[in-house]
Amino acid sequence: MKFDVLTLFPEMFEILNQSIIGKAKEKELININLINIRDFSKDKHKKVDDTPYGGGAGMVIRPDVVYEAYKSIPNIENAKVIYMSPQGNILNQKKVEDLSKNKHLVILCGHYEGIDQRVLDKIVDEEISIGDYVLTGGEIPAMVLIDSVSRYVEGVLNQESVKEESFSNGLLEYPQYTRPEIFEGEKVPEILLSGHHQNIEKWRNDKSLEITKNKRPDLLKNNK
Ligand code: SAM
Repeated sequence: MKFDVLTLFPEMFEILNQSIIGKAKEKELININLINIRDFSKDKHKKVDDTPYGGGAGMVIRPDVVYEAYKSIPNIENAKVIYMSPQGNILNQKKVEDLSKNKHLVILCGHYEGIDQRVLDKIVDEEISIGDYVLTGGEIPAMVLIDSVSRYVEGVLNQESVKEESFSNGLLEYPQYTRPEIFEGEKVPEILLSGHHQNIEKWRNDKSLEITKNKRPDLLKNNK
């Protein structure tokens, strides 16, 4: 799977060289290509933003610079272009799974007051938000999207564990336990030591339902 990221701060994506996503990159299961929007500025000081027409606070990223950066991406006509935006569709597990069916995602990160609307209208297929709050830039949301979508890419994780995790079946996951068998006087639930797979599965399903009822009853309503 290929991610092309249009950003003014490519250094922020260093985090994606760590852990599971870092390994997936090394194995070339995913390819994350960082494109610095500033490289496409024709200004002698490499300026990319300007004051908003109509007045008001902050700076707006120029449409021409973003468009040049976008046009530099090979095979762009087959890619889905996403703009990370607090005004977008909320990123949830269903959205993540749907996005993972694309082979090529282009992710545009805004900063400051955002990006001139004209270029957004011209190139963006979907706006996606990671929640109802405002961040300083689209870089952290883009990393959230890349991490969550990459988990569905063949070979990145054991796909069984992806299927069982919270939200995948509309419920939160059951509690997990590991060694030691007794921790500070608390024993692991007996059933998990029984080796009886059917009973363990039933216990896990019951727990999953109970936890969802307690922590996120809204998920059960949405499931109906
Ligand atoms: N002026 C914009 C508004 O009120 O809708 C907010 C701009 S925000 C300060 C700068 C950039 O951060 C946005 O262009 C977007 O790329 C990103 N951003 C901020 N909050 C986000 C969120 N919740 N989800 C996704 N991207 C977000």
